[in-house]
Amino acid sequence: MKIKVAFVLALSLLTTALRAEEFSLIGATVINPADGKVLPNATVVINGDKIERVAMGKQDAATLGRQISCVGKFISPGYIDTHVHFFQSADLFTRPDGADFNGVRPYKDEVAWIKSHLDDTFARYIRCGITSVVDVGGPMWNFEVRKKANATAKAPRVAVAGPLISSVSREKLDLGDPPIVKIDTPEQAREFVRKLAERQPDLVKIWYIVDKDHPVESFRPIVRATIEESHAHKIRVAVHATELETARAAVEEGADVLVHSVTDKPVDDAFVKLLKDRHVILCPTLVVFERYGRTFSHRLNLTPEEQKWGNPEVIASLDVTKIPQDKLPQRVKEALGDPKAALDRINHTYDVALPNLKKLEDSGVTIAAGTDAGNIGTIHGPALFREFQLMKQAGLTPMQILQCATANAAKLFGGETGADIGKIEDGYLADLVILNANPLDDIGNASDIDTVIKNGVVYSANLVLR
Ligand SMILES: [Zn+2]
Repeated sequence: MKIKVAFVLALSLLTTALRAEEFSLIGATVINPADGKVLPNATVVINGDKIERVAMGKQDAATLGRQISCVGKFISPGYIDTHVHFFQSADLFTRPDGADFNGVRPYKDEVAWIKSHLDDTFARYIRCGITSVVDVGGPMWNFEVRKKANATAKAPRVAVAGPLISSVSREKLDLGDPPIVKIDTPEQAREFVRKLAERQPDLVKIWYIVDKDHPVESFRPIVRATIEESHAHKIRVAVHATELETARAAVEEGADVLVHSVTDKPVDDAFVKLLKDRHVILCPTLVVFERYGRTFSHRLNLTPEEQKWGNPEVIASLDVTKIPQDKLPQRVKEALGDPKAALDRINHTYDVALPNLKKLEDSGVTIAAGTDAGNIGTIHGPALFREFQLMKQAGLTPMQILQCATANAAKLFGGETGADIGKIEDGYLADLVILNANPLDDIGNASDIDTVIKNGVVYSANLVLR
């Protein structure tokens, strides 16, 4: 008898220890964009790093662990930005191949700053409720970034591609570990993919740049070889393709993901059907299209979220009027001299890209939200809320936008982790955003964040960056 009591006591102590991390979010409206379901007065039970269960109505208090009242709040799965670049800071000096400011700040100093501020960048994603990101291409040290993020609590989950396989070279970015590698033959492409495969990339990225010297067809055999070799290693391929015919060629050759919108002409029905038949995911990255032009013409329109939660050093650098006149690159001089032309170009891009997004969404193509953060003026973290505004401008509903930023984005993230994020369902990873106002009334409320939970760890939003 005595032994039995002792055993039961030991067992209950063990149970307590195992349940130490159990807690429950009580009384919120739970939004699950994957299936569009909205559960009022719900209970989300979290145990360790997982969502144990989601239930409605009154629950037995004994099964809930520590209770956190969320009455009047709204819970979404953690947001996922499927297009970022950790090798870029978003400051003015981060793309010397596009605008060379080496005379103001040497590029090697820029890269050193980026590497030493990764924890800060990670925390800004958490502050914005972004619990996972996909880094769609950078130097080989990107793989170290993934490792570091996955070993850091206050960081998003990170999937990465290695260096971009490109039709053009970018010498100014090459400090010995270039983010963009020019590939000239199909055999070179296969060799490069085999080398990448050793690092277990989540994606292989192709930079399919087309201009008068690089027509669509000339690089196509390299696209084909890259995709074949990647698929042979069970690695998916994302292709940067912003013209309709480039994007079509990429998908015909087997691309799994298209990054950026088609911006040169309206997408046609055959293209839409091709994307659907091949289950291609498209990531529009609308915000990046305005940020280079607006930064260079001194017409930057950072949102309040970006001003509050972006890195202040990065934001301060974006004022081009602080750069001495003789150190301004020609491109920036021209933009400053004619800001209207810069804004007209941006508007023209959106006149094509926004209706294209609406058409693809309405046709049932899987759209994953992404920003291209890290590019000049596209701020790591809060840029996603500007992306939401532009998706709204394209005509997407708040529920569709949330679906793009959660369940659909999880598909792009891919792998074992991708299958466990993006939904508020039993057994999924406990990555959640608790909002003060209903994002389904206005997607602007998606940034009114009270609390962020990543991997079952609770962060009060206002304290994340302190
Ligand atoms: Zn990009």
